Amino acid sequence: MFFFFVGGLEQQARQVLKSGVGRCVNCGSGADLVEYEKVLKLFFVPVWRWPGKDPLMHCKNCKLFFPQNLSIPAPKIETSDSEALRCRSCDRLVDSEFRFCPFCGSAI
Ligand SMILES: [Zn+2]
Ligand SMILES: [Zn+2]
Repeated sequence: MFFFFVGGLEQQARQVLKSGVGRCVNCGSGADLVEYEKVLKLFFVPVWRWPGKDPLMHCKNCKLFFPQNLSIPAPKIETSDSEALRCRSCDRLVDSEFRFCPFCGSAI
């Protein structure tokens, strides 16, 4: 493993997309949503860099990169429940677009 002996792969923030949108999973301070790039360094000289696929959260305090979903637990809105009605006749969940229950045919 010659490469890893003299150099390494680093992640660097390329561009801040949103500032202070999350909290660091490590130290709890504010973290930014950033576009990042991976930088391959040999003898501490960047020789190759390529952009990361998805934006990551980056903590400026402890320089940690972590996935966005770790930082902000996405508020899960139960769309299935709010958009569905329950048939009063047979008690099954029916899509709110229906005007009649597809199971028992009674009006909703
Ligand atoms: Zn941190
Ligand atoms: Zn029904």
